[in-house]
Amino acid sequence: MSADRREEEFDRTIESYGIRVKDRDDVKVREDVFDEVTLLSLYRLAHRKWISALGGSISTGKEANVFYAERGENELAVKIYRVQSADFKGMSAYISGDRRFSRVKKTRKDLVFAWTRKEFSNLMRAADAGLAVPKPLVFDRNILIMDFLGREGTPFPQIRQAVPDDAGGVYDEVCRMVEVLFRVAGLVHADLSEYNILYGDRPYFIDMGQSVTRSHPRVYQFLKRDIMNINRFFSPLCDVEDPDTLFTRVSGLPPHPGGVETSSGRNDHQ
Ligand code: ADP
Ligand code: MN
Repeated sequence: MSADRREEEFDRTIESYGIRVKDRDDVKVREDVFDEVTLLSLYRLAHRKWISALGGSISTGKEANVFYAERGENELAVKIYRVQSADFKGMSAYISGDRRFSRVKKTRKDLVFAWTRKEFSNLMRAADAGLAVPKPLVFDRNILIMDFLGREGTPFPQIRQAVPDDAGGVYDEVCRMVEVLFRVAGLVHADLSEYNILYGDRPYFIDMGQSVTRSHPRVYQFLKRDIMNINRFFSPLCDVEDPDTLFTRVSGLPPHPGGVETSSGRNDHQ
């Protein structure tokens, strides 16, 4: 079948679920994401009236795609974890050390579904703590639906692409968010960097699938790494706090003695 034909067929399938197709996407993007499992989940979500229109792709990451969508007047972001291309090993460490999810069966599919549920639950805890994150609305298997951060279909940029004028003020706010996340929500982001902070009218934390609770065995290592990443990004832009002081302020503990992983986080961002 030609690419055009396959695209038409995709549109027809989606529209048969009662979802209006707004923007056409690269058919390749779609075919990578919308396997049978995903289409069934999308069907169920549409049936439950969570999505009325599906727009174009916002992002194609290593493990997930993010699409723009609508529910009536409301703008949504739909994050779909790809079952096939997931980094199975990388996910495992963040799931098995987390008491909430340690009993998850270790097949690829189950792990990806658990990961999606974990991101939903982490975003919910962060939102409940009053933090600026996309509010999660619903999930089904490998699909997570959340509030869209942006305006009129255009997502807010990642902070690395929209360096704020008042870098010092934004740095302070980001540090405060790390502290509230730890103390009120009981979480460490664990992949915090200029890629996972969107900047609109203010900074927003996104991408919390890997975030862990304070009981995770490596939680302090992850916290230290998040702090180092934030300081690395902001230090050319404004004064930053000493990382040990910041670590202690956030956690209430003396500086973390263990070694720090210096990579950007769980993923090496593309
Ligand atoms: P990945 O695991 O692929 O890094 P992210 O959750 O970081 O997934 O999302 C990838 C990109 O998609 C983000 O950098 C951002 O540009 C966009 N994005 C993610 N969530 C939202 C959202 N709720 N609103 C608007 N854009 C979003
Ligand atoms: Mn990300």
